[in-house]
Amino acid sequence: MSGQIVYDINTKFGKYGGRFVPETLRQPLEELASAYEHLKHNDKFLSEYDFFLRDFAGRPTPLYFAKSLSRELGRKIYLKREDLVHGGAHKLNNTLGQALVAKQMGKTRLIAETGAGQHGVATAIVGACLSFETQVYMGEVDIERQKMNVFRMELLGADVIPVRSGSRTLKDAINEAFRDWSANYENTHYLLGTAAGPHPFPTMVRDFQSIIGKETREQILRAEGRLPDSIVACVGGGSNAIGIYAPFLQDKVELIAVEAGGQGIGKTNKTAENGASLNCGTNGILHGALTKILQDPYGQILESYSIAAGLDYPGVGPELAYLAEMGRVQPTMADDKIALKGFKALSQLEGIIPALESAHAVGYTLDSPEILGDLAIINISGRGDKDLATVMAHENF
Ligand SMILES: *Cc1c(COP(=O)(O)O)cnc(C)c1O
Repeated sequence: MSGQIVYDINTKFGKYGGRFVPETLRQPLEELASAYEHLKHNDKFLSEYDFFLRDFAGRPTPLYFAKSLSRELGRKIYLKREDLVHGGAHKLNNTLGQALVAKQMGKTRLIAETGAGQHGVATAIVGACLSFETQVYMGEVDIERQKMNVFRMELLGADVIPVRSGSRTLKDAINEAFRDWSANYENTHYLLGTAAGPHPFPTMVRDFQSIIGKETREQILRAEGRLPDSIVACVGGGSNAIGIYAPFLQDKVELIAVEAGGQGIGKTNKTAENGASLNCGTNGILHGALTKILQDPYGQILESYSIAAGLDYPGVGPELAYLAEMGRVQPTMADDKIALKGFKALSQLEGIIPALESAHAVGYTLDSPEILGDLAIINISGRGDKDLATVMAHENF
């Protein structure tokens, strides 16, 4: 959507966020914002969401005391087990919530973007469960790289639409999905996959993912009688992180955001070395919001890089950009090597194979235990079965 500036209305997080979109997206965004504003206080809607979270997604997920990792790090470590959510990651918390909003709005069709395919699969799952026609935009390059997830989406009854524009990856798929939405919003909901994009997406996705933090807060108080000293989460677009942080923003709890630190070797000038927008990005507009993005001096978006497909996004949600600027969230990085160390360590110490994304958070704690305090929680955003081929192919493993 670059080049066609246009609209700027709230809601913002400091100077971040907002709604920088073409005229044609104004109406669908306003309709969505006002429907959501109403539904989030509606008991019937909330109890339906609770029902699907419990009986379909498998919530609440445990907060598990990791005794061997605790011994290794010399402090108490708990794991929030989003790897146990149906579909294998936290993504369903968001897709269920948005699909129920779409139902209430009378929509019959869902569209979504996907990079590696994880969000596409989570959308295809709710599309089948709640009887929507579902179409997922996916870059041609990603379709080639992620055949299993393409098959999964099709098996679940969704169509995968190849995107041939730009770099033929995630950011181009997002642009295509917005284009489709602006033409078809009468019957279509655009189910965005992370806490990014124009208002109301960052707020709505945060609210749906904050079930992670609400459960965590109750569970740690029950288990330890106090709040943790720190919470560690990996950050791609930022939805699992803001989801677990949200109920702790007013508390004295260190919130640590671990971004993809890359391979640590040089790349071309078209390519960022990492996926670390909070650490290395500069202010700019991407996908309808002002946030921290990886861009060249001329404002061209760089291709991000991470061994974990879910962290491979050249931007970050505006609320995290704001909280990092305020000093409320500490941005950190873990490179591929540290992530692989975390992947192996959690598997062998605890019998839990984490997603490569979550392994960045685990690896970070192994490398920097001193900043965790005496009692820390790591958000295990997903399970690692999807990543076995990647890890097996990695020479340093
Ligand atoms: C998609 C994904 C992420 C990254 O997305 P966020 O919006 O930053 O949470 C992290 N972990 C897993 C397992 C994922 O599937």
